[in-house]
Amino acid sequence: PPDVAQLGRSSWTLLHSITAQYPENPSPEKQAETSTFMRTFAKLYPCWHCAGDFQDWMQNGNAPRVSSREEFGRWMCEAHNAVNVKLGKSVFDCGRWEERWRTGWKD
Ligand code: FAD
Repeated sequence: PPDVAQLGRSSWTLLHSITAQYPENPSPEKQAETSTFMRTFAKLYPCWHCAGDFQDWMQNGNAPRVSSREEFGRWMCEAHNAVNVKLGKSVFDCGRWEERWRTGWKD
């Protein structure tokens, strides 16, 4: 089986990087394919209990928000925070997702 922590770090890097490169004004097609990607990702994620919980989270009022880079980046941050809470890790300040994943920390 995969190393769940290593898989997680790599996967969050991929997912937050996708939000960082997402358009500020995505076309309807882009929004639809992104939403489909996230639902499919949640089904194929190769940590089955993680995948199950992630699908449940999305189905319980947290459908992917993909109307803009800001919305999608925030949504991904909230998704990651839901896992942080479940694992007893600290909650990340979602006001800083872009600084962490796109523009770089300001000192
Ligand atoms: P990670 O949580 O991997 O975070 C990496 C970096 O992202 C952090 O150092 C920080 O800089 C940044 N970061 C942290 N929080 C946020 C945020 N909210 N928004 C933006 N950036 C942030 N593990 C389990 O044991 N059980 C599970 O059920 C489980 N479910 C998962 C579901 C999914 C969809 C994914 C992708 C991962 C899941 N994981 C699960 C893995 C878990 O989330 C962590 O990746 C793993 O525990 C390693 O944690 P870490 O402390 O190294 O940092």
